[in-house]
Amino acid sequence: MSGEKLVLVEFMSFKLECDKANHICDKNQYKEATFREKVRLIFHLIYCRACRKYTARNNKLTKLIKTPDVKTVSAEDKSILKERLQKETTE
Ligand SMILES: [Zn+2]
Repeated sequence: MSGEKLVLVEFMSFKLECDKANHICDKNQYKEATFREKVRLIFHLIYCRACRKYTARNNKLTKLIKTPDVKTVSAEDKSILKERLQKETTE
């Protein structure tokens, strides 16, 4: 195998499906993503515009949750909040 091909294979192994990328993004939000997952996510974000949008939205949500007023909300409330935010940003 030539060196060029090897690089291509390596890149392909980094290729992620969008739903998987979004899952890593969610995990990263709660600092649960591994280094390898983060690298794969970054690679995905380089060529996927949709996921860059998703990540930006997620970061917005993380900031929102970190504000003192919403610090005590339950996980259930957070998911409602997340749904609402996603609805707002997609409309
Ligand atoms: Zn994507």
